[in-house]
Amino acid sequence: MERKYIFVTGGVVSGLGKGVSAASLGLLLKQRGLKVAAQKLDPYLNVDPGTMSPYQHGEVYVTEDGAETDLDLGHYERFIDEDLNRMSNLTSGRVYWNILTRERRGEYLGKTVQIIPHVTDEIKSYIRALGDFTKADVVITEIGGTIGDIESQPFLEAVRQLRSEVGIQNSMFIHVVLVPYLSCSGEYKTKPAQHSVHELQGMGIMPDCVIARSDRLLEDSLLDKLAHFCNVERRAVIANENVSPLYEIPMLLHDRGFDDYVVSRLGLEAGPCDLTGWSEAVRLMKGPKRGRVTIAICGKYVKLHDAYISINEALFHAAGHNSYELDLRFVDCEQIEEEGPEKLLGDVDGILVPGGFGSRGIEGMVAAARYARETGIPYFGICLGMQIAVIEAARDLAGLEKANSREFDEEGSECVIDLMDGQRNVVSKGGTMRLGSYPCRIEQGTMLHEIYGCDLIQERHRHRYEVSPIFRGRLEAAGIVFSGSSPDGKLVEAMEIPSSRFFVAVQFHPEFKSRPNKVHPLFDAFVRAAGMGK
Ligand code: GLN
Repeated sequence: MERKYIFVTGGVVSGLGKGVSAASLGLLLKQRGLKVAAQKLDPYLNVDPGTMSPYQHGEVYVTEDGAETDLDLGHYERFIDEDLNRMSNLTSGRVYWNILTRERRGEYLGKTVQIIPHVTDEIKSYIRALGDFTKADVVITEIGGTIGDIESQPFLEAVRQLRSEVGIQNSMFIHVVLVPYLSCSGEYKTKPAQHSVHELQGMGIMPDCVIARSDRLLEDSLLDKLAHFCNVERRAVIANENVSPLYEIPMLLHDRGFDDYVVSRLGLEAGPCDLTGWSEAVRLMKGPKRGRVTIAICGKYVKLHDAYISINEALFHAAGHNSYELDLRFVDCEQIEEEGPEKLLGDVDGILVPGGFGSRGIEGMVAAARYARETGIPYFGICLGMQIAVIEAARDLAGLEKANSREFDEEGSECVIDLMDGQRNVVSKGGTMRLGSYPCRIEQGTMLHEIYGCDLIQERHRHRYEVSPIFRGRLEAAGIVFSGSSPDGKLVEAMEIPSSRFFVAVQFHPEFKSRPNKVHPLFDAFVRAAGMGK
């Protein structure tokens, strides 16, 4: 079977959830026995989202191979459960960076370097390279932005060209559009969708399939109209109203014939779709609950919930799996500094301090960790959240009153968290942290060992600082247990306070590996511990 390419575009407005539509299709095709690879093309000029503020862009999602990518890639991994890689996220910035680097090396041999063919060729080469690297049957490529944006035009031109290269039978375009509801006239309107399809056609792209996003289920007559005016078959117009949880969307799209249409349109050799495990996870999420757990996420980017999207989802997976209703409370750590932890955290069942950078709000996080340790409320620290837990315990248990991280106290004499050796001379900002998957050896007899049930794990990282080897012995003597470390024993990967019911913190980011139907053991244990305290 020849490799097939599916391109997903969005029309009318951004934020429609095209990533979720594309990820759902990936899951449906995988569950029909096909090998699927997914990719997102982002039109902005940053080389990757790694240096962008979470307020600009939401979370940075880290892949196994250490790429810092768009948060939509998290949806792809959670839905399709295939590891993505460096080729899975391409920005305009990366395209130009590659081309200009070659130009400076003289590789264009005096030629004029142009958008067509050089930029479009570079884009096409990434799409093909992902297919070759993963040996996928189907490559799903989402084009970020909205049709009509100036900046996404080279991407659209590249995929238009690619279609003629690989053949119409081996490629298809899916256009995800908004069908808005006008409350003044009490009706749904298809005109914006029609305009957006016309705009796409003006660029030489004829969509094969239209996904109609709306807040409620659309009537058949509207779907007929969309088919008629958008030049697609009626069975290729798929209604997708808002549903909760998001994980129900693959089932909804399957019931409406989405994967059947794609399989027949592309002539894929596919089996029946097995959604057993997935629908069981969704059933538990929606099913009767034995209670509610309130988890406080104490961070500094709490005004934008997308900044912690993988953590939110991992907690949601764990709550669903354990039949708890999840009450997520986003607590601004600067507010904890001002008002004290008791007022903001007094009634929560679990405290989670997530990853982060910079000194703002740090003392509020330390106060949250102390409050958890002293009251016995389960504490889960992730990356910066582990460094905070170590700083707190160093100050209170090991008598290091000035304990801090070198990140916040450059001249400090008690930096229990310090720059990693390899980071000392690093000045360039993009992609220079300790990134991606590394092995971690777990000490037997620790809470961490009980949680994972094994001696060696692989988790993803994104940090520059580590527990200082200089202070390690003193911290251990004060009662901190370093339950996980790099196999050579040099880097601390996890800590815990054994006298607490659940006080576990890790230097890595377990949230990236949680799936709705494969709950991450750390989130599972944390939510269970939070539930037990009720
Ligand atoms: N700022 C810390 C470091 O670089 C923590 C990073 C994080 O939480 N991802 O080590």
